[in-house]
Amino acid sequence: IVRSPQELVGDLNEQQAQAVRFRGPALLIGAGAGSGKTRVLTRRIAWILTQFGAWPSQILAITFTNKAATEMRERLSALIGPVAQHMWVSTFHSACVRILRRDGGRIGLKSGFTIYDTADCERLVKLIATDFNIDVKRYTPRQILARISDYKNNLTGVRETLARYAPDFRPGTRGFRIGRIGNVEELYAIVYAEYQHRLALANAVDFDDLIARTVELLRTQPDVAEYYHHKFRYILVDEYQDTNHAQYVLVRELAGVDSGERPSPDAPGAGRRGPAWITVVGDSDQSIYAFRGADISNIQDFEQDFPDARTIMLEQNYRSTQTILDAANAVIAHNEGRKPKKLWTAAGKGAPITGYAADTAQLEAHWIAHEIRRLHEEEGVRYSDVAVMYRANAQSRSLEEGLIQAHVPYQLIGGTKFYERREVKDALAYLQAIVNPADGINMRRILNVPKRGLGARAESIVTAWADERGLTFWQGIEQADRIEGMTTRTLNPLRRFAAMMTQLRAFAAEHDRQPSQVVAEVLALSGLLEELQKSTDPQDQSRVENLSQLQSVAAEYEQNTPDATLAGFLETTALVADSDQLPDEAEDSGKVTLMTLHTAKGLEYPVVFLTGMEQGTFPHSRAMEDTSELSEERRLAYVGITRARRRLYITRAAVRAQWGRASEMMPSQFLDEIPDGLIDWKRREAGVERMRSGWGHGSGSGSHGCGDDWDSELDEFGGWDDDFSAPSYGGSSYGGSSYGSSSYGRSSYGGSSYGS
Ligand code: ATP
Ligand code: MG
Repeated sequence: IVRSPQELVGDLNEQQAQAVRFRGPALLIGAGAGSGKTRVLTRRIAWILTQFGAWPSQILAITFTNKAATEMRERLSALIGPVAQHMWVSTFHSACVRILRRDGGRIGLKSGFTIYDTADCERLVKLIATDFNIDVKRYTPRQILARISDYKNNLTGVRETLARYAPDFRPGTRGFRIGRIGNVEELYAIVYAEYQHRLALANAVDFDDLIARTVELLRTQPDVAEYYHHKFRYILVDEYQDTNHAQYVLVRELAGVDSGERPSPDAPGAGRRGPAWITVVGDSDQSIYAFRGADISNIQDFEQDFPDARTIMLEQNYRSTQTILDAANAVIAHNEGRKPKKLWTAAGKGAPITGYAADTAQLEAHWIAHEIRRLHEEEGVRYSDVAVMYRANAQSRSLEEGLIQAHVPYQLIGGTKFYERREVKDALAYLQAIVNPADGINMRRILNVPKRGLGARAESIVTAWADERGLTFWQGIEQADRIEGMTTRTLNPLRRFAAMMTQLRAFAAEHDRQPSQVVAEVLALSGLLEELQKSTDPQDQSRVENLSQLQSVAAEYEQNTPDATLAGFLETTALVADSDQLPDEAEDSGKVTLMTLHTAKGLEYPVVFLTGMEQGTFPHSRAMEDTSELSEERRLAYVGITRARRRLYITRAAVRAQWGRASEMMPSQFLDEIPDGLIDWKRREAGVERMRSGWGHGSGSGSHGCGDDWDSELDEFGGWDDDFSAPSYGGSSYGGSSYGSSSYGRSSYGGSSYGS
């Protein structure tokens, strides 16, 4: 635990130390990758506590993922002691959930509201599309949701959207026909309005609502805003370049920047007035979430937006070798309209980047897997020090196959995540429906899971009856006896379902009931577990394991949370992001990590493989025509390259399956942007190019060396006939990976890929 200020800044460079000690209302720490931004932010919090004399409760620190929040809290505990545990160190979303749980009632959110994930939201949009006769092939739910998300990220409300595009529409009116929807803006507006209407009826919110509704709360309830102005005297935000407009406004509202008071020149402690002091940290070259509304001008305009703002630039990189930095700087220099940055390292030149061009995606994976094994066996590299990164989730499949064949343990981050697995979602849907019976999406999901003779017809009869009377779906079920024309074949299971849910709700409501007990009771009473246990399908066995895992997660949550509640547990499950599946840095997982480039933000690994460096793969085919999208892809390449500490590999395949067809792939333009001297090509040409140059015989093309060793390696490891005995490694719990439960069949070319 820190005793002197020197301990907080002693091992920092001058600019870093300046940023830690800075006294003033607004500070931007802008700098390239690996320059210690996150480290400085953490130290600054410790500084504020120990040197400015702030209370932990006066600090709000925002990180990009829950995992980053946990890590920051741990670092702070080491610096200042256990008080750090009580600080608000969290993502925007988690902070907003806390705020809405406390005061959401003021804007019509009842306690115990449900947070819908993407799949829930898509279901809701589909229901609406059906009711409005919208052709979901022409207007996909994903596309509609993207537009709704845009509205929310820009804080554009339903009322103004309707006024503009569909002034005659009233949410909740039935029988609006497609013929009346004249244009696509009108369609979006109507679905948006109806969607919000039904969310409200269900007492539910989606992710974007968490931010937008918190802003609404702060803007419409002055006393709530006052409470937070008083409470948070220091607000610090990491990865500021990826904030969207709503998040930007949220920061201003929480800080009270627009409250009309001048910022105070003294550290704003208890009792003193003036807006909170703000510190933001970011790198505009790493902005990679424009598709989720991230607005780079938030960071660019910081000095104009916040009175008396100062910027401190960090220039020394502590993460990577000079070679890796040179490559990153060369690539990003191709983006227009950016401020050039100086970034240097004292780490020395280091090893050259290793390049490899494979004939096919399978061979690319095979080469990577064997190279990782070689690093492990010959150079003593730990598997957990290696990360393999790719642009789109679908690319993980061939990489996984390669690693399995080479017997390299790995874990996959992303793909089908634990909380998105069917059986886990089913169990969670029960819990949601217990906490919030008005939640029609989850109630519908479990109505016939496991099968109890309540199919689509039963559902639509209840829905129609309840809708007509302005009742929720659950109220319809409760009163099923009053529905006319219902056969006993439907009525009996409905009654049983209602009785079971009532019993579960009573069980959950009992004093001192722990969430894990409710999970156990749900699994038993609902018949979920029994159905899976009876099954002879081996997949159902792993489903049973996942359900038992869910119970363990609940138990773990209870141990870590003083006031554990079922609603609180559901929150933690709703806010889990891809990167949260990563094991703690401290423990050696013994596994190679596979993840998308988006997930890799903020992380670092001694050895990094950037794979699929092809036109159409990376940069993504959708982005190639558009300058601003191409710039975003290039920033993603910059993020990828700068994750590497010591060794960087870049690989590509000449042939890759796309849409089920083998396509010939040209090398990524980003490869051309890396100066030639930095890359040591183990094999430079592949596929057609290689055939043209006579398969590398004396063509002087650089395609020598490894290519030949490679064939002998194939033989040694049994080539492609290796049988796929399902490996047991890698099958870790959260989203972990064992082959078979991973991202197979998940299309990444449709936009699901963005590591979101
Ligand atoms: P990114 O842009 O990728 O988020 P960052 O700017 O947040 O990177 P950090 O992750 O804070 O950078 O730091 C990168 C690495 O350099 C970390 O391993 C960190 O511990 C180390 N580091 C930062 N500053 C120093 C320093 N003054 N002395 C030694 N190591 C440092
Ligand atoms: Mg960082």
